[in-house]
Amino acid sequence: MKKTTPTLAAERQYVIEKEKFVPVSQYFGEDTFNHNVIKEKLPKDVYKKLMDAINEDKTLDDETANVVAHAMKEWALEKGATHFAHWFQPMTGITAEKHDAFADPNGPGTVIERFSGKQLVQGEPDASSFPSGGIRATFEARGYTAWDMSSPAFIKRNGISTTLCIPTAFISYTGQVLDKKTPLLRSIRALNKSAVNMLKLLGAKNVKRVHANLGPEQEYFLIDMDYFYKRPDLVLGGRTVVGAPPAKGQELEDQYFGSIKERISSFMHDVEEELYKLGIPAKTRHNEVAPSQYEIAPVYEEANLAIDHNQMIMETLKYVAKKHRLAALLHEKPFAGINGSGKHVNWSLSDDRGNNLLNPGKTPQDNIHFLVFLIATIRAVYKHADFLRATVASYGNDHRLGANEAPPAIISVFLGERLTQILENIEKGTVAKATNAEIIDLGISSLSLVSKDYTDRNRTSPFAFTGNKFEFRAVGASQSISTQVIGINTIVAESIDEIAEKINTKARGSKNINQAVFEVLKGEIGYIKQILFNGDNYTKEWEAEAKKRGLPNEKTSPGAFKAFVTDRALNLFEKYQVLSKEELKSRYLIHVERYIKDLEIEVKCLNTICMTQVIPAAVGYQKKLARAIIDTKKVLRSAAAVSSQTELLKKILDLINNIYSTVKDIQLKVEASSALDDEPKKAEMLCSKVKPKMDELRGYVDALENLVDDETWPLPKFWEMLFIC
Ligand code: ADP
Ligand code: MG
Repeated sequence: MKKTTPTLAAERQYVIEKEKFVPVSQYFGEDTFNHNVIKEKLPKDVYKKLMDAINEDKTLDDETANVVAHAMKEWALEKGATHFAHWFQPMTGITAEKHDAFADPNGPGTVIERFSGKQLVQGEPDASSFPSGGIRATFEARGYTAWDMSSPAFIKRNGISTTLCIPTAFISYTGQVLDKKTPLLRSIRALNKSAVNMLKLLGAKNVKRVHANLGPEQEYFLIDMDYFYKRPDLVLGGRTVVGAPPAKGQELEDQYFGSIKERISSFMHDVEEELYKLGIPAKTRHNEVAPSQYEIAPVYEEANLAIDHNQMIMETLKYVAKKHRLAALLHEKPFAGINGSGKHVNWSLSDDRGNNLLNPGKTPQDNIHFLVFLIATIRAVYKHADFLRATVASYGNDHRLGANEAPPAIISVFLGERLTQILENIEKGTVAKATNAEIIDLGISSLSLVSKDYTDRNRTSPFAFTGNKFEFRAVGASQSISTQVIGINTIVAESIDEIAEKINTKARGSKNINQAVFEVLKGEIGYIKQILFNGDNYTKEWEAEAKKRGLPNEKTSPGAFKAFVTDRALNLFEKYQVLSKEELKSRYLIHVERYIKDLEIEVKCLNTICMTQVIPAAVGYQKKLARAIIDTKKVLRSAAAVSSQTELLKKILDLINNIYSTVKDIQLKVEASSALDDEPKKAEMLCSKVKPKMDELRGYVDALENLVDDETWPLPKFWEMLFIC
């Protein structure tokens, strides 16, 4: 394509407005209605009532809500807000907000800023245009949003527009869940209950609360915005549907953790500044493996907050990128042949005294707690590996999972040699007491345990134990992490309960609970060991071995989604009151529909690019070559003189023909699939029949890209997008 100088000029246009830099500690959280602000702005008794409501998961009375709303409004007005919005997480996977002005008519020709307790606590956005998976008919499409007091309200700035955003749950009028937050909060509650019961059983009577912590590591690409806008596939679907691999990719390994370019550093600085204002503890930033690929990771937080924050991080990356004339790509695989982007979700459990239950402790008792929660988690993953696989399934992630860079579609757990050995010894019975040296040692040597298995730890594992937390690595970069965390919380709650029941039964009549624990763990290890795998997950041998072990290996999303609606899953989520059977079934359909839509958007995009950009460019070059052949033949009076051009011309003609016929073939296949009423069948058909054809088509286009005159090629090429920035 015609080269434009990369937007260095545009970069220069971007002026850093700040005159001086202020230490982060002075403005961290300044755009959130956080605990300190609440304490400062609310009368003491109201503050106490609000805190009680937050901590004990209760609703606020009207009077208190009015006082809180007033304080929140005054605070937001000081920040320049003109509107408030209930901020929620519908099943689209991104966030939604409906803005209402504070200004309200107050007699003829005047307005006054108003914000009532009722407006704070409940909103009524029309729900008809959000995915519901058939849960409610359009005629009863009303939904309502309910304030989630556990996540602070925040100020969202967009250009000069400033809005007070109130995190909320989104429910239909008939009480069914329409969002990703409600079941998350329910799963947090379920996990808390099971974990506290378990701790009580193990003798830790004082523990009142247990919560999950999350630290999501977010990967993304940045490319110059000029290139982005010249690629309809990136603009509409987030992924390049054609494009030949560049001469240089990531083979020199010179990008990972390399020094960060100035333009990117400035961008990262701006992102972090926005995040700090929002009280998001951004911590780590670095270059990732692929060219133009990066990562940002905040310090872990309580699960609900961490998920809200991850949504805000994704939005901020996109928003700030625009200011720097960059485009942030969160797609799982924007560039074929180049590493894709995932999101490692680090998950652990803490009690209300701040103890990490997945950390080996200082006393044998702590270590027993550790082993119980460790084994309960592994057990849950083993029992519901198919469900976990379903939670990461999406059209985008299909391009990444199982490629030689991301975890395979087989869910297994990495424990590291040291811990695997300890579990084996417990199973063999050589470690059967809390006073056993190996158990006591666990805590003392946890440092060596961590450093040993941490350094050589297995990057290929989808679910790895990394010292004091589990890291779920199969998650896609663009995904909301609620679905996975709802899954993990609920399946772990179940395993904790089932193990507790066994311990109870074993311990009946005996005073020695620890002995019962070891006996139960011994049995559990025998059961779960099939899911443990410390080796290289990318190998063919592992695939064969996993098959022998009976581990599920669903390579595509349409197959994987089915695990949402097995009787096992439906009963489990209903039992733990996280999602009713109807709600879970509707989620299954939403995932299937989304898969179909994503694929269909790409198909249309690919066909249009082929017909309106690729073929015209190729025909133009064909004409040029044909003219050159005729002219040369005339002058030299020899066909042999133009044999190379003639061969090239033939190649180009062949490729044009192949492209044209494959586009037609794809169209026919898509039409055939639209005749199906059954959405899951349609998804399967698109996946098995259309997707391979899209890959075939891409092959022809990419071959053409390497033959056609560079000046006339209509799309920015990979080397430009990935190396000019
Ligand atoms: P790496 O890339 O080496 O895995 P990072 O430092 O990039 O590690 O990210 C690790 C993530 O895990 C961070 O978000 C961190 O806060 C989070 N994390 C650390 N400890 C815990 C824990 N106990 N529970 C949950 N997340 C944790
Ligand atoms: Mg990292």
